[in-house]
Amino acid sequence: MTDPSLLTILQEKIRSDGPISVGAYMAQCLGQPQHGYYMRGDVFGTDGDFTTAPEVSQLFGEMLAIWVMLQYQQMGSPLEIQLVEIGPGRGTLMRDIWRGLSAMPDLRDRLQIHLVEFSPALQKIQRETLNGLPVTWHTDISTLPRQTSLIIGNELLDALPIEQAIWVDGVWRKRMVGLENDRLAFVTGDVLTELNITGAQEGEIYEYAPAVGDFFRQICRLLKSQGGAALLIDYGDNMPPDQRIGETLQALHKHQYVHTLLLPGASDLTAHVAFAPLLKIAEETECTAQLHEQGPFLSSLGIHLRLEKLLLQANEEQSKALQSGVQRLTAPEQMGRLFKVLEVKA
Ligand code: SAH
Repeated sequence: MTDPSLLTILQEKIRSDGPISVGAYMAQCLGQPQHGYYMRGDVFGTDGDFTTAPEVSQLFGEMLAIWVMLQYQQMGSPLEIQLVEIGPGRGTLMRDIWRGLSAMPDLRDRLQIHLVEFSPALQKIQRETLNGLPVTWHTDISTLPRQTSLIIGNELLDALPIEQAIWVDGVWRKRMVGLENDRLAFVTGDVLTELNITGAQEGEIYEYAPAVGDFFRQICRLLKSQGGAALLIDYGDNMPPDQRIGETLQALHKHQYVHTLLLPGASDLTAHVAFAPLLKIAEETECTAQLHEQGPFLSSLGIHLRLEKLLLQANEEQSKALQSGVQRLTAPEQMGRLFKVLEVKA
């Protein structure tokens, strides 16, 4: 169902100020304080709009717990350290990580958890999931304590706003959201003189994401100044910008694709993450970064060994669920190749 209130807000804004950029549209759809998509609360899982890795299998969080313990050891077991998750959804991933960290009580006992979540409704669900854990909430990364940090973000980058350009009559123009007969419609805006991408055909789209770059630069700077490591996991690619012509912005509603302008505030809007510019930012900020595919990354942390161990105590139904979960997370034709893990260290 369309959220009439957000649609009305957008229509009024466009009527009075003119078309808005695709990035502004995406930011409003997802984060508008009253009617944004994530303000609805629980949008995940089979009853919601999409399913994420921690909702597929507990082994995802358990493997990230192993990553956390490895980083801690490699950093020489620092006394002051915090665990940060950005965009924690239902809190499932942190719950599973925390359980996995019981293998290292000296770390867990001194660890503070900081969650960055802009949705009050999701914060409420996270409070229930993580009841009893030492958690502090933030709505923005700017208020995180300046401390050595292990930072995790799963399917966060794909929810940050992207901008679109469209190739018209030999120039790139900004793609905007305007009104046609009072309905939301894509329209063309100003010429983008600074965009240096060649080889496009008439009407083709190029996506660029200043907000993702700015966000990631802040993470790199925090790591550089305070020490630590980050793991940002998302679907996307490492293609050079010239080869990235094409639209990836998509809207999901109840596990079905819908038009991106059809259900503002009621469908999840995401875009494929362009990892190549992020690797460049890591280099500029003098952090080291590595991009892995999710399947091999989880295998290197021992997901198949852990599965075998769990299968020893599982009944038939549990065994099936465990096996299909691991398959979904790691198989190249499922999430194993499309999903990438960006690992950054100070
Ligand atoms: N990591 C979770 C949820 C992914 S959905 C999982 O894997 O299941 C994206 C999450 O990021 C949601 O919790 C959403 O509310 C949050 N989020 C999206 N954009 C955000 C922003 N700009 N600031 C803070 N949180 C944001």
